Amino acid sequence: MFASVIVDVPSKSVNQVFDYRIPSGMQDIIKVGHRVVVPFGRRTIQGYVMNIKDTADFDPSKIKPISRTLDIEPVLTEEMIVIAKYLAEYYVDQYISVIETILPAALKANYKKIIRAAGDDGEAAQALRNLGISGDIETSRLTADQLSVLRPHFKSGELVEETVISQHTRKKTALGVYSLKVPEPNLGRAKKQIELLERIDMSSEPILLGTLQEEGYSNGMVNTLYKKGLIDKVDVEIERDPYSGRIFEYDKPKVLNGEQRRAYEEITQSMDEKSAETFLLHGITGSGKTEVYLQVIQKALNEGRTAIMLVPEIALTPQMVNRFKMRFGDDVAVLHSGLSPGEKYDEWRKIKEGRARVSVGARSSVFAPFENVGVIIIDEEHETTYKQSDRPMYHAAEVAKFRSRRHGCPLILGTATPSLETYARSEKGVYRRLELTERAGTKILPEIRIVDMSEQHRAGNTSVISTPLHEAITDRLEKGEQTVLLLNRRGYSNFQICQSCGHVPMCPNCDISLTYHKSNSSLLCHYCGYESRVTRQCDNCSSEDVTFRGTGTEKVEEILRDMFETDVVRMDNDTTRRKGMHEKLLNHFEKDEIPILLGTQMIAKGLDYPKVTLVGVLNADTMLNLPDFRANEKTFQLLTQVSGRAGRHELSGEVIFQTYNPTHYAIELATHNDYRNFYEKEMAFRRMARYSPFYFHVLFTVSSEDVRKCLGATSHIHETLAGAMSEQSIIVGPSPSPIERINRQHRFQILLKYKREPALLELLNELDAEYHEKYKKEGISLKIDVNPLVI
Ligand code: ADP
Ligand code: ZN
Ligand code: ZN
Repeated sequence: MFASVIVDVPSKSVNQVFDYRIPSGMQDIIKVGHRVVVPFGRRTIQGYVMNIKDTADFDPSKIKPISRTLDIEPVLTEEMIVIAKYLAEYYVDQYISVIETILPAALKANYKKIIRAAGDDGEAAQALRNLGISGDIETSRLTADQLSVLRPHFKSGELVEETVISQHTRKKTALGVYSLKVPEPNLGRAKKQIELLERIDMSSEPILLGTLQEEGYSNGMVNTLYKKGLIDKVDVEIERDPYSGRIFEYDKPKVLNGEQRRAYEEITQSMDEKSAETFLLHGITGSGKTEVYLQVIQKALNEGRTAIMLVPEIALTPQMVNRFKMRFGDDVAVLHSGLSPGEKYDEWRKIKEGRARVSVGARSSVFAPFENVGVIIIDEEHETTYKQSDRPMYHAAEVAKFRSRRHGCPLILGTATPSLETYARSEKGVYRRLELTERAGTKILPEIRIVDMSEQHRAGNTSVISTPLHEAITDRLEKGEQTVLLLNRRGYSNFQICQSCGHVPMCPNCDISLTYHKSNSSLLCHYCGYESRVTRQCDNCSSEDVTFRGTGTEKVEEILRDMFETDVVRMDNDTTRRKGMHEKLLNHFEKDEIPILLGTQMIAKGLDYPKVTLVGVLNADTMLNLPDFRANEKTFQLLTQVSGRAGRHELSGEVIFQTYNPTHYAIELATHNDYRNFYEKEMAFRRMARYSPFYFHVLFTVSSEDVRKCLGATSHIHETLAGAMSEQSIIVGPSPSPIERINRQHRFQILLKYKREPALLELLNELDAEYHEKYKKEGISLKIDVNPLVI
């Protein structure tokens, strides 16, 4: 028997399966989806069994055997293997990179180099011992001096360097004890010891030492029993649970209102029919979409099926996890990037082994290894985090649709502001649209006002806080209510400028100015992380007349504290870098009733606090000015999203947008919550400019330190496309990317817009293969982004 194995070759991409012989002893063990260790050239590496067959493609006598398998059960289900193949082709990528995206990182091989002596008592072994080393040693742990002492032994072949696989964090264990069931233990009259032995005796599983300690039995007592041969010690696997020790009180299902009920019934009917439909649940903020999700999931569970719930980024929406845990308890597995690899692996296994039936997670949890899926939900479907920005550049909705077809289950795309592509599909009837037009319960939408900042300037107010916003905040402070302020720009000032020569300090690696961060007096590049200290003297002309322009969250925090003499919680990439900080800051804001929460767009999603009655957007135009055809759409979405944070409970809410473009339709229509009109206006623009959803896009980005190499590769791609595409297709570029240089890499792009190109996928895969064969070696990188979200 033979196995086709896809191998994980570090730093080299091989999109090919290799045949290996399955040794006779392993024939009943190895199945499709198993992780195996195989010889590859002179190395030993990890691979995944993709297929098992009776005959091999090559001379069977030359085929090497599989060395061993790494798991008892296969880690990849058949479904995952099919998905990997589909995604690798659709998004023009390597199988192995897709497989390693599907699986938790803890299962990936970790390769390291070790040095090994040929024999135990040769000169080389002695040389190692002289350095204080017994046995094998990792190369990276030796100093340059030590290596030079060993060098002669490599030449003579007495010392060899090998690459070996070491596994990442796997299972976590702790010491436990179990009783040996001795017929008549001799404990005399030591009462407490007899009691302890009985306690251990009664348990069918080993008991952790920690548990016994909590119950009042000391380690000393346990050791006495151990020495008397009455109990034995073992390593017990323990599960890492990021939510351990937290109590979630059960939250009863709510009685659905008319619109919610209708949505629920249509979705569950489709679930019964197993018709794999996609629904757009278009509901304004606070209309009770989440309650609909929860009840649909309950229905799936009642029928013995499972459910996948995707959210844009869990760290930003801790309240969502709470609601799921409160409804479904331990049936919920939580998967997201904030967990350690070990925690993620344990949550993943809960799903794989059937101990959790609902997953809540970010993008990659769409791969949750469930059987018999009853419903898949993508909340805030318009969010860009659902598309991975590195290879493989997949979109979670694409995977969700694939799984929905396979399991015959509904897919729900929920949002207040659908992406244009999704809404257009619902207009065509490809997706079934369900509308929730009112807030659940009795609450009404907040009133939204626009403040024209140019007018404020003319009236003499040059502060970042306009007079109406100032009044509204003051009012909330008096009433003890809370305010949320959005400013989509972190740091203190945007840039430093010399007032005598106009010089602006730029990042040496990127074509972008450095941002001033006051807290650590540094100038920081937000693209590559370059940091330099602030000097109060111009680098160019030595003048001391330097100043800072533009306002970021760090500076506004300072302004607010001075202006209102009050406490402020600031949330941006700088204050939330450490694990768990999002939740900590939000708790602080809620529990300690801090009057003002100021943040970048990370505060726009999911927050639901009863005392928040005012939302202010300090600069509603930031997103409008992005060099992206979706700039209007992003602006409308962000403004609608953040407005939805106000007045969600008993107290009614108010929203203020500060802008220099008070008549722009993205801003104007957001104040009226008028999605429909926005959709129509924006569609007219997209049709005229020939953009998505009227055209499909593929974006090619070529980058290299050498600008000529960049141009050479881009014009080659351009020629290839021009020769192969039909006349209806449009090729834009080559042109420099919006920021031409990032991290010393020059970047050029080509945008392909097309309606129908049957041969395109094949052409893209050929271009990618060519890149791997030719360009990669020359230090040129090519990114092929199919259905890009940022252009
Ligand atoms: P969305 O997900 O659309 O933003 P939520 O599901 O969070 O809306 O609902 C908003 C608020 O209304 C929540 O506090 C929720 O508990 C409450 N709610 C939802 N549905 C109902 C209902 N049928 N009856 C009463 N309250 C409801
Ligand atoms: Zn100067
Ligand atoms: Zn930079």
